[in-house]
Amino acid sequence: MQTATARRTVGDTPAGGSVLGFYAPKGTPRPPRVARAEGVFLWDEDGRRYLDATSGAVVTNIGHGNPAVLQAMQAQARKVTFAYPRFFESEDSIALADRVCALAGPGLDRAFFVSGGSEANESALKLARQYAVVSGQPGRWKVISRNPSYHGATLGALTVTGDASAHALYGPMLRAQPKVAAPLSYRVPDGHSVESFEAACAQALEDTIVREGADSVLAFILEPIGGLSTGAVVSSPAYFRAVREICDRHGVLLVFDEIMSGAGRTGRFLAAHHWPEARPDLVTLAKGLAAGYTPLGAVLAPERIVDAVAASGGFVHGHTYFTNPLSCAVANAVLDEVVRQDLVARAQAAGAYLKDRLHALAARSPLVGDVRGLGLLGAIELVADKASRRALPVDFNAPARLTEHGLRHGIALYNRRANRGEFGDFQMVTPPLTASDAELDLLVELLERALADLHDEVR
Ligand code: PLP
Repeated sequence: MQTATARRTVGDTPAGGSVLGFYAPKGTPRPPRVARAEGVFLWDEDGRRYLDATSGAVVTNIGHGNPAVLQAMQAQARKVTFAYPRFFESEDSIALADRVCALAGPGLDRAFFVSGGSEANESALKLARQYAVVSGQPGRWKVISRNPSYHGATLGALTVTGDASAHALYGPMLRAQPKVAAPLSYRVPDGHSVESFEAACAQALEDTIVREGADSVLAFILEPIGGLSTGAVVSSPAYFRAVREICDRHGVLLVFDEIMSGAGRTGRFLAAHHWPEARPDLVTLAKGLAAGYTPLGAVLAPERIVDAVAASGGFVHGHTYFTNPLSCAVANAVLDEVVRQDLVARAQAAGAYLKDRLHALAARSPLVGDVRGLGLLGAIELVADKASRRALPVDFNAPARLTEHGLRHGIALYNRRANRGEFGDFQMVTPPLTASDAELDLLVELLERALADLHDEVR
C-alpha cells in the first residue's frame, strides 16, 4: 500500500506540483497513475484498464508481469544484485553474451552490456573510435548518420541524431556530424520513385564520405527500421546492399542501431537478418532485450574489433552499471520466454495479422494515409488528406492529441514527436509480441475510436 507520506517523497509538493514534472509544461493535465500491469494491459489507481499498444516505449516485448521472469529476478536478487565487473565476472552475463551473440549470428561475436539505448550507442561509437586508433587510423572520427533519425538523448548520441529541433536547442553543445537523408517512403522528393530516392540516399552517403575525406570517416550509423524517426519505414535490399558496399569501399564501419528493432520485434532476432547483404559491423540493442523488467542495453561487435581494443590495454570506457548481474539474469529469463513462447515467429505472424487489420482501418479512416512496418514494429501515417498525402497542421500536434484521446479510450499510445513534425506525423503500433489475435483486434478497435475523436477535432 502506498501511503500519503511515501507518495510525497516520490515528488509531490504540498502545492500539488511535482519534481517529476520535468517533461510537461506547467498546467498540462497529469497522466494516469499506474497501479499494476499484466500481459498487454496496465491499470491505473482508479482501476481503469489501458491496452499497451506500443509496449510502452517499444520495450515490453514479452508483456507485463511474466511469472518466470519475476521469479528469476527474485532468485538473482537473493544471490547478488551488484558486483563491479572489473572485479567480478557473473555467470549470467557470460551466459547472456553467449546467447545474444549466437542469436545475432556470425560476425557479432562479443557483447558489452550497459544500462540502455543511449549508452549502447555511445559505447559502440567509442569502441569504433578506439579500434580506429589502435589499428593505425587515428584520423577517423566522423560519424555519418541519417536525417531523420533517433539514436538517444545523451549528448554523444544526440550528435548523430537527425532531429533539427533537438539540434536547435542543444546544437552549441554538440560537435556537428555529417547527415544524409533517410530514404523515407511515403513522401519522396518530386521526380523520384521510392526506389530512385533510396538510390539517391545511398549515393549521398558516398558523396558525403568523399567530401568529408574518407580517411576521416569512422562510421555510418542507422536504424535499419526507424522508430520514432521514420515511423517504421522499411527499405529495400538494394538500399542495404548499396550502403554495405559504400562502407566497404571506404573502410567505414557500419553500425546498426537496433535498440528498437532488435530482440525479435520485427520477426527476426535482428532486423539486420532481413537483409543478409547488410552485414553490420556493430549492432546496438536495448529495450526488448530485458523487456522493461530491468534497464539493459548491449553492443554487439566482431572479435577482430574487440581483440584489437583488448590488446591495446582494454576499452577506455565503462559505466557503473555495465554488465549488471541482475539485469543480465533478467535478460536471460526474458530470452528463455522468447524461446519458450516462440515469440520471434509470433512477431512475424502477429505482424501480418495486425497489418491486415490496420489496412482495413486505413480504408475506413480518413486520417490514416499509410500502414507500414515489419513484424510488430509498425506504424500508421496520420494525414489531413490521403489523395495529396498532405500532413496535418504542424501546430495541431496530432500524435500528442491522439495519445490523449487514446488514454480516454483505454489504449496507451507512445509518442514523441521528433523534428516538430517536419516529415509528417505517424503513430507507432508496436504491441507486446505476446498479444493474442483477440488483443490485436481490440487494439485496432480502440485505436479507431481514438482516431475518430482526432478526426472530430480536425474537420
Ligand atoms: N536508438 C533508438 C533507435 C531508439 O528508439 C532509442 C529510444 O527510443 C534510443 C536509441 C535511445 O534509447 P534509450 O532511451 O534507452 O537511451
